Amino acid sequence: MTGEYPPIGLFIAGEWRGATGRETRPVVNPATGEALASLPVATTADLDDAAAAAAQSFPAWRSATAFDRCRILRRAGELLRERAADIGWATTVEQGKPIGEATAEVHAAADIFDWFAEEGRRAYGRVVPSRREGVRNLVLRQPVGPVAAFTPWNFPITIPARKIAAALAAGCTMVFKPAEETPATGLALARALHDAGLPAGVLNVVMGEPAAISTQLIRDPRIRKVSFTGSTAVGRQIAHLAAEGIKRATLELGGHAPVLVFDDADVERAAAMAASAKFRNAGQICIAPTRFLVQEGVYDRFVDAFASRIRALRVGNGLDPEVTMGPLAHDRRPPAVAALVDDARDRGARVVVGGTPIDGSGYFWQPTLIADVEDGARIMNEEPFGPVALAVPFVDVDDAIARANALPYGLASYAFTGSAATAVEVEERIEAGMLAVNHFGLTSPETPFGGVKESGYGSEGGSEGIADYFVTKLVSESW
Ligand code: NAD
Repeated sequence: MTGEYPPIGLFIAGEWRGATGRETRPVVNPATGEALASLPVATTADLDDAAAAAAQSFPAWRSATAFDRCRILRRAGELLRERAADIGWATTVEQGKPIGEATAEVHAAADIFDWFAEEGRRAYGRVVPSRREGVRNLVLRQPVGPVAAFTPWNFPITIPARKIAAALAAGCTMVFKPAEETPATGLALARALHDAGLPAGVLNVVMGEPAAISTQLIRDPRIRKVSFTGSTAVGRQIAHLAAEGIKRATLELGGHAPVLVFDDADVERAAAMAASAKFRNAGQICIAPTRFLVQEGVYDRFVDAFASRIRALRVGNGLDPEVTMGPLAHDRRPPAVAALVDDARDRGARVVVGGTPIDGSGYFWQPTLIADVEDGARIMNEEPFGPVALAVPFVDVDDAIARANALPYGLASYAFTGSAATAVEVEERIEAGMLAVNHFGLTSPETPFGGVKESGYGSEGGSEGIADYFVTKLVSESW
């Protein structure tokens, strides 16, 4: 498939449905602005069929042994690895990220499949000692039921993999809506699972009009759980819909990650790591380091070191293996980033590097560093979701933590310090679902991923990631 964009269709009850008789939407290459394909917009009947397929396949899938479910998921993981070059190519042309990042993401998705395949086999219940003779209390964990999952375009294979692998390993079935910007990557997961022997109807893929799809599916009584990754604004709507039916929801929403760089940190090392972490995927990452809060004594040194690393980045079409940063993912992103950068500039912030879009075809934006940004600037409060880093000085640990915790977001956070005491203080007081100290690595299949405050609730990854797909049943038996 390298060099050839795959056909895009809906996948319902094990069968493909194409564009005939349906509206279509273009899929666009963000590096060139050219159309790659048309995707069929699911009708209400398609969505009804998808929910029906997930409901009908649920009894047999929940009764399948955890060993059988594991075997299918492991096989799908192997197929993803075999197909990584082709899938990575499709990701780059539809999403824009450099081909190396795209291919690595496919391998990461395969690792997620392996982890949850095995975690499904470890989904133990409990036996609780009874207060009464002759009584046994059993705590059973059972799959919650058919799930509706909605995923964004920024990590078009690992985010769906976390939801799909956890749900399927637990014995749930699913209707999955990938982002309309990145349908080929989402469908590659369905193809791998189908080829690995997944029974028809256990995973169904729909796409088209996001709000219409999520509204219909979440209100459908056959859907028992919802999982969404995307913006806080949309997450709030999803949470309302889920609440109407008292349905469980896992919400992975926006972030505005603070990075606390203390005077005693290895400043040059922190700056080098920051440049690669910030501009990966052109900054379109919910855990992207964004607010660089730097202690006064090393502020200028950090800004200079960071700026020189940023200037070394190479922006271009992600298919070029030399490129380290691709375009923004779609045409809505450049104006959104521009509005935030212009507002900061108008309020007197200093643009150290970049600060403007790049002319030409495609949705390119310069890697940007803005220093001395005032607290009231929009970009200090709204997620830029683009290649823009902000630098602001702080006085002491109390000031740093107060600034870090000032926003309603609480997803990722980072701290750089040479002091164990300072690290512990940050670990205890920061309001975030995740904190990395002296590095930027926060994602792995075996560790929980999730936020607090308006960054959402529930966890994905790790043992926590499968827990939300089970309900608890107490069985108290007397013989
Ligand atoms: P957007 O809100 O238009 O879309 C974001 C994603 O949500 C898309 O994949 C879209 O298909 C989906 N979506 C939108 N409305 C939906 C609905 N009613 N029901 C179900 N899904 C829906 O924004 P955008 O311009 O594409 O992205 C920018 C913003 O989205 C960013 O500011 C960021 O906050 C957020 N975002 C977050 C993540 C994340 O990983 N948490 C990923 C991508 C985008």
